[in-house]
Amino acid sequence: MKPFLPFTRPAIDEDSIAAVGAVLRSGQLASGPKVQAFEAALEDYVGGGRKLRVLTSATEGLEIALAVAGVRCGDEVIVPAMSFSASANVIARLGARPKFVDIELGSRNIDVRGLEAALTERTRAIMPVHFSGLPVDLNRLYAFATKHGLRVVEDAAHAIGSRYQDRKIGSFGDLVVFSFHPNKNMTSIEGGAIALTDPREIELIEQHRFHGIKKNADGEVDVLFPGGKSNLADVAAQVGLDQLRRLDGFNDRRRHLAGLYFEALAEFPGIVLPERGDSGHSWHMFQLLIDFAARGTTRPAFQKAMAARGIGIGVHYPCIPALSYYRAKGYDAERDYPIAARVGRETVTLPLFPAMTDEDVTRVCTELRAELG
Ligand SMILES: *Cc1c(COP(=O)(O)O)cnc(C)c1O
Repeated sequence: MKPFLPFTRPAIDEDSIAAVGAVLRSGQLASGPKVQAFEAALEDYVGGGRKLRVLTSATEGLEIALAVAGVRCGDEVIVPAMSFSASANVIARLGARPKFVDIELGSRNIDVRGLEAALTERTRAIMPVHFSGLPVDLNRLYAFATKHGLRVVEDAAHAIGSRYQDRKIGSFGDLVVFSFHPNKNMTSIEGGAIALTDPREIELIEQHRFHGIKKNADGEVDVLFPGGKSNLADVAAQVGLDQLRRLDGFNDRRRHLAGLYFEALAEFPGIVLPERGDSGHSWHMFQLLIDFAARGTTRPAFQKAMAARGIGIGVHYPCIPALSYYRAKGYDAERDYPIAARVGRETVTLPLFPAMTDEDVTRVCTELRAELG
């Protein structure tokens, strides 16, 4: 039997492992020169004259970005109904209310036509998600935000290296947050970054991620507010530096593998393929919709059967308002967000990561055919 093929796997090379060893021997274990170098390299990569500030996760980054954007208790933030739960949790953690908008079936991104209906006098910000690395219709989204005086926090956890109309995600826009979790297109073990331009907001982010501390002109420590603790470690930054150098190669490989899936699955009956996008898509994940109920089975049973065939199948993601916490808050996913609810029930993530071979794609499709046939 061939080795198990997981749905994702980070690509860490021996050079990176050796470089981490050197950082450990340096005695610099907290945020030091490697964090500075990682931020500079990210600024260089993303471009647009933007500054990047790294943190321990995108979840921390999103929560801090929302706070910096002025989201307070009682405010509303517009967010897609299908994403990783962090996209809504960070809003709830600030005492604000997620205002869910349904997604499009093809792109699985927020349906910008739904923004108008979601707007209230309490709306403070919009948090679109570039799902799977396919950019949201940002022209329309920013036009709407500008018209109504809203801040935008882009959840770009899937979208480092993605391009919208030939501009890199993060090189323009309001506040843009990336994730470097091991499952994402590049990793710093755990980690994330915020891209922005406003010097005052950059300083605020630096304070949020480190105790609310500001040094006085004479170098004495002062605390301006009870900030958190989400500064990145230098070993993590070293891993991130190595990954960033390889990112464009990773994303090329992801695009190639996604293309093979499209070829192999074009005639497959009874599945819904994702929207293809253009060369700006970074293919963080490749997902099918399968109507398990109509096939008389369940998604967990399918995952188990595929695992027995040596293929890892992921689920990204359940519809957020259908999760217990949000249901208890009175959201009704089936009634109000039918497409997100359907995707939440039917989505499966096929293996896709840079070290996969072309033959691995063939193997996945052969096993899919045998299982669903
Ligand atoms: C992974 C992910 C996050 C959170 O990223 P972390 O770095 O793990 O905190 C946020 N939003 C989306 C859409 C994600 O996929």
